[in-house]
Amino acid sequence: MADQSFDVVVVGGGPGGYVAAIRAAQLGLKTAVVEREHLGGICLNWGCIPTKALLRSSEINHLLHHLDEFGFAADNVRFDLAKVVRRSRGVAKQLATGVGFLLKKNKVAVFDGAGKLAGKGTVAVEKDGKPVAKLTAKHIILATGARARQLPGIEADGKLIWTYKEAMVPTAMPKTLLVIGSGAIGIEFASFYLNMGAAVTVVEVMDRVLPVEDEEISVFARKAFEKQGMKILTGAAVKGVKKGADSVTVTVESGGKSQDITVDRVISAVGIVGNVEGLGLEGTGVKVDRTHVVIDEFCRTGEPGVYAIGDLCGAPWLAHKASHEGVVCIEAIAGLHPHPIDWTNIPGCTYCRPQVASVGLTEAKAKATGHEVNVGHFPFIGNGKAIALGEPDGMVKVVFDAKTGELLGAHMIGAEVTEMIQGYAVARTLETTEADLMHTVFPHPTVSETMHEAVLDAYGRAIHF
Ligand SMILES: Cc1cc2nc3c(=O)[nH]c(=O)nc-3n(C[C@H](O)[C@H](O)[C@H](O)COP(=O)(O)OP(=O)(O)OC[C@H]3O[C@@H](n4cnc5c(N)ncnc54)[C@H](O)[C@@H]3O)c2cc1C
Repeated sequence: MADQSFDVVVVGGGPGGYVAAIRAAQLGLKTAVVEREHLGGICLNWGCIPTKALLRSSEINHLLHHLDEFGFAADNVRFDLAKVVRRSRGVAKQLATGVGFLLKKNKVAVFDGAGKLAGKGTVAVEKDGKPVAKLTAKHIILATGARARQLPGIEADGKLIWTYKEAMVPTAMPKTLLVIGSGAIGIEFASFYLNMGAAVTVVEVMDRVLPVEDEEISVFARKAFEKQGMKILTGAAVKGVKKGADSVTVTVESGGKSQDITVDRVISAVGIVGNVEGLGLEGTGVKVDRTHVVIDEFCRTGEPGVYAIGDLCGAPWLAHKASHEGVVCIEAIAGLHPHPIDWTNIPGCTYCRPQVASVGLTEAKAKATGHEVNVGHFPFIGNGKAIALGEPDGMVKVVFDAKTGELLGAHMIGAEVTEMIQGYAVARTLETTEADLMHTVFPHPTVSETMHEAVLDAYGRAIHF
């Protein structure tokens, strides 16, 4: 059994863990990563990347069925589901393999097994129940991620009721599908299956879809999805399921009424629970709130020398948040005095059709936290590039502090907004005011001009609407 000492040991090799390890190595710290399953974590293997590969296929399927608009014709357009899934798995594999190379290049030691705290400054590594290594380190970072939450009585069985994992590797296309939950994961799968030809119903317990987004974006998104044929039930709770041989009947209650909906498959996308079990936290100062480890703005837990990052620590459950926490955590360990993490400044993206992206406060949150606001809007229909692309459905909304001109939040829906939100994220990091944004020159013709026009609109100066 290997007995080794390091400056930093990271438990978990997802986008939180492997990025923290590489940054540590860059700063000259002797670093190890312990990973029990697959480098790259959920993001590269079962999350961000393979879903985007699938969504690319569904986007192409959509375009192929709307060729006439662009002056083309094609007969007998069809897809091979096995190839669509194979491409997604291939993309995931390529990127996850790349993580191994990056760690090697940075001289990070990788241990294959499950890690747990085993006394002060010690991580025990086990593989198949057998001890493989005992690692000591001054700094231990827990980055073990999270998994799908299961609803009691509606647990995923992998056959008729899927979590994201089964939904990502279908062997046959369901003709009818019901998605429980309209957060980013639920809506992305709803959008994928809808655009691949399935009849999709989404059931959401809150009163609107994409409930963390600004309310106007939720309303816009709902209309766009319904226009595409998605059936959406909000303020609706799944009360039970009855499984048949190859179908599921779902009982949904809303507005005091109950209805049974029979579908081929159900996707349960009702949230995330942290992987806190088996980490040896008992008897340490690490605090767990429900299923998430409690940290401060430098990712310190209540136990000196033990840190936690990423999905393990709760919302927002996003890869770039995990990576950012990893970098801040390491830089603080190395004494570089990084800025504390500002969780309000983490952009969120949903890759449905049309895409949704946001950063900062919603209008409601801005008002609730005492800001007097100036709000601007701009619709894609007023943008030349969006119309030329055949993507006129979308809008941008910005929220400014009326007194200081600080950009409090930006909310976008439409083609490629996930690529554009970064402009506003930079603006927020630099604490840019409305004047700087108004005087920034945006290239023409680009969809990004909608970002400029929305800012102008907040001050009554929009030109093209
Ligand atoms: C379907 C889906 C789509 C998503 N799409 C996006 C997206 O588009 N954009 C986005 O930003 N986020 C997306 N996410 C979320 C994103 O995947 C996570 O936020 C991100 O992976 C979190 O990174 P992490 O490093 O905290 O944890 P993880 O990626 O979960 O990595 C944790 C790692 O720790 C390992 N591990 C666990 N316990 C142990 C142990 N005891 N010892 C050793 N190893 C252990 C696990 O095997 C895993 O590899 C998506 C998630 C899903 C499910």
